[in-house]
Amino acid sequence: MYVCIKCNKGLMDPVSKLDQPDPMDRFQCSFCGHQANIHPFMISITQLATSIVGIGFSLYLLIHHLLDAVKAIQLSNAGASSSHFALVLLGCFFVAGFVYTILKAWRNLRTLRLYRRKANTG
Ligand SMILES: [Zn+2]
Repeated sequence: MYVCIKCNKGLMDPVSKLDQPDPMDRFQCSFCGHQANIHPFMISITQLATSIVGIGFSLYLLIHHLLDAVKAIQLSNAGASSSHFALVLLGCFFVAGFVYTILKAWRNLRTLRLYRRKANTG
């Protein structure tokens, strides 16, 4: 159970509204009405783990194609180098996406800890 960090009196109850994208993550204080998004621990941990693996994989492909692109330039193969550079660019997009997911998951974990710590100290 999560305790409200605003008034320290109410408990956070799940809010299910149809206009919310994920109603299960939305909580509202039963005492002061303070609302917060609290994501389940396992979801944030899974996001972190898959993103770290994803970044590793993307970086491997990125470096691999970057080296191939440099090699193609040295051999004056413009067609091959541009296709490798396109994949390097795609790899950059993937890395950026994974970094964004990691930051989001990290923020969600910090929020969760904030509400949980309040609950533990009473
Ligand atoms: Zn409250």
